[in-house]
Amino acid sequence: MQEEHFTSIVKAKAAKQITPFQTYRQNSVAANTDAVLMYLDMNSFFASCEQQANPELRGRAIGVTTHNSPYSCVIAPSVEAKKMGVKTGMRLNEAKTFCPNIIQVLTHPPYYRRVHVDIMKILHKYCDDVLAKSIDEAVANFSSYRLVYDDFLSVARQIKEDIAAKYDYLRCSIGIAPNTFLAKLGTELQKPDGLIQINPDNIDGYLARLQLQDLPGIASRNARRLQMIGIKNPLEMRHASEALLRKAFGGVVGNYWHRRLNFGEVDQYSNGMNRTMSATRTVSREQRESKQTLDSLLISLCTKLEQRMVKMDVFCKEASFFIKYRDNTSWETKVRFAQPVQDAMELRRYLLNMIQEQEHTTGKVMFNDNTRNMGVGVQGFILGSTLQYSLFDNRIQMDKVRKVMYSLKDKYEQKNIVRKGAELLNPHVMRDAIGFGSVKDMVVIRDEDGDGEVVRNQYLLEDEDD
Ligand SMILES: [Mg+2]
Repeated sequence: MQEEHFTSIVKAKAAKQITPFQTYRQNSVAANTDAVLMYLDMNSFFASCEQQANPELRGRAIGVTTHNSPYSCVIAPSVEAKKMGVKTGMRLNEAKTFCPNIIQVLTHPPYYRRVHVDIMKILHKYCDDVLAKSIDEAVANFSSYRLVYDDFLSVARQIKEDIAAKYDYLRCSIGIAPNTFLAKLGTELQKPDGLIQINPDNIDGYLARLQLQDLPGIASRNARRLQMIGIKNPLEMRHASEALLRKAFGGVVGNYWHRRLNFGEVDQYSNGMNRTMSATRTVSREQRESKQTLDSLLISLCTKLEQRMVKMDVFCKEASFFIKYRDNTSWETKVRFAQPVQDAMELRRYLLNMIQEQEHTTGKVMFNDNTRNMGVGVQGFILGSTLQYSLFDNRIQMDKVRKVMYSLKDKYEQKNIVRKGAELLNPHVMRDAIGFGSVKDMVVIRDEDGDGEVVRNQYLLEDEDD
C-alpha cells in the first residue's frame, strides 16, 4: 500500500519534469548497464495492417504490393506467406512458385500512418522520450524512469496489451537492453510477438546462438572481414579487443561495434543528432515578384528550422543556403558559425551576409523575379544542455525567452496567440511554409485533448488546413 503510494508520487513528479527531447541520453563510450532502452518492432507491419483492416485476409498468405501487376515487388509478405518461403522484395511471380495461393493486396499508406501514430501515442503514455526509427519501429529511452517502474518487462507487456486492445490482429516484438543496438537485437531474437530483455548476465547466452549476419548492420562483406581476422561469431566479436575490431572494420566503426556489444551507446542519435535538418520552398509567381516576400520566405524557412531545434533542444554549428532560378542556374553557400545558433533571425542574418557578399561580387540581385525555389539547411548539432553558457552569457536570456515562447505556443489551442515580431512580417507566407512533416516530425505528435481524433504535429505553428 505504502509502496504503491510512493510510486504514484514519483510517477507524478517524473511526468512533470520530463518533457520530450530533454531526456535524450548522450552517446557514451563507457559501459552503462543502468540505461534502459526499449525497442519496439511491429511484426510484418504492412501485411498485418491489411489483415487487421480486412478480417477475410487473416490467417492467409498475402503479399502487399504497390502496383497491380504480376511482376510487382512484394514489399511485405504476411507471416503466413513468410512461412512458405516468400521474402520481402521478391517479385510476385517468383513468390507464387513458393506460395501458389498468395493473395496480392495493394498498399494503403494512410492507414499504416494512422496505426503508426496510434502506436506512438501508446508508447508516449509510458515514456516521454520516444523516437520513431521508421513507420513500424520505435525506441523509447526509459533510463530516467528507473524509479517510476520497477519492472520494465511488465511495462512492455502492458504496451503489447494496449496495442492489442486497439488493433487486435497486430503483434510486435519488444527488446529491452542498456543500449539501443542491443534492444533492437532483442526484437530480432523472437518473432512474432517477442519480448526479450538483454542484460550483462544473459548477453553471452543470446550471442552464442547467433551468426555474425544475424546482427542488424552486419552484412556479408563485414562478416567475411571479421572471419578473415579470426572472429567467427557474435560472441567472439563481443569479447574481441577494440583494436582488433578497428582492424576488421577499418577504423572508428570497429570502436562503435565494440561499444554496441559491451553496453556503451553509439546509436542514440542515429535518427536525430547526425542528421541535417532542412526546409525548402518553391516560390509562386506572385511571391517572386516582391523582394520583400522572398525575404519573408527566408525568415519562414529559418523559423521552421528554429522550431525544430528548440523542440529537440539543439543548436547548430553550420548552415547552408541554396537558391535556384527559372533559367536553371543556381547558387549555394555554406556558413560555419563562431558560436552555435538556434535563433531564426540570427540564422537569417548570417545567410543574408553571405547573400549580400555574393551580390557585391556579382553585381546581381539574388532575390529576383526569376527565383524558382530556395532552401536552408542546418547541421552540426550540439545539445542545448551541454552548451557552455559562460561562453556567451549575453545570450542566456534570449535562449530562455525562445523556450518560453514555444512552451506558450504549445499550451494554447490558437498557436498564434504568441508570435514573434518577425513572424508578423508576412503571416500568410509563414503559414504556407509549414507543411506536414515526415516520420521524424510525427515522433512528437501528441494528442493533447485526449479525444483521440485530432493528430497534431508539434512542429507546426498553426493547425493544418486539410
Ligand atoms: Mg517490423
